[in-house]
Amino acid sequence: MPELPEVETTVRGLAPVLEGRRLTRVEPRRADLRRAIPADLRQRMTGATVTRLHRRAKYGLIDTDRGDTMIFHLGMSGRWRIDPETIGAHDHLVVETDEGRVLALCDPRRFGSLDLAETAALSDFAPFRALGPEPLGPDFTAAYLDRAFEGRFAAVKALLLDQRVVAGLGNIYVCEALHLAKISPAREAGRISRARLATLIEAIRAVLESAIAAGGSSLRDYARPSGELGYFAKQWRAYGREGEPCACGAPIRRRIESGRSTFWCARCQR
Ligand SMILES: [Zn+2]
Repeated sequence: MPELPEVETTVRGLAPVLEGRRLTRVEPRRADLRRAIPADLRQRMTGATVTRLHRRAKYGLIDTDRGDTMIFHLGMSGRWRIDPETIGAHDHLVVETDEGRVLALCDPRRFGSLDLAETAALSDFAPFRALGPEPLGPDFTAAYLDRAFEGRFAAVKALLLDQRVVAGLGNIYVCEALHLAKISPAREAGRISRARLATLIEAIRAVLESAIAAGGSSLRDYARPSGELGYFAKQWRAYGREGEPCACGAPIRRRIESGRSTFWCARCQR
């Protein structure tokens, strides 16, 4: 499932194809994904010039000179294909630019979404209303996290997965960041010192940035025809490594709660 770094990599891969280009064709090939695709998407996007690509949480944002933003979510299996040789049954949106470049949004499981919003009112877009700060943005600080965790008895892992606390973090990156910061996933959030919160923030940024860098190096592959954006291989410190030795020598443990796995080291995470 694409997480924040995959979405960021996708946005960076799409930017050179789309930014500054006029869209000569915007063709939804079905009426819905996870939810309905706006009926006026074709009309509002065709002929518009793309001014900027960016990201909020796990949503990619395509701004245009008409004051509209097309918002995409990759769901479980979504990916953009650049200059595909053929358009397939799972390509649910086809976009063409005035340079003749073709993009297809492929989503076999259709858990993704396509929406339109006014660029000036993006913060009113329903999924964005209650979102916390971006983990890579300037508002995500130890002072902020200290306030957000104050008096909270919940496990730190649960709060980091709460999108109201911080936007766009998924299970894998939370496990990785807690391992890097040497903080137990079960630790009561309100009882973590400010100094350890600063370490945690640095760890969250480090695991995201290293994954984005891995995605960036895989971007070279996207230059080829039919290049696909959205997925790349990563090496995890703790995630998926049950029974393997941590850097400290103790085995990585795994616990499953509400269908979600936590991987951690009981020796070095406290
Ligand atoms: Zn360890």
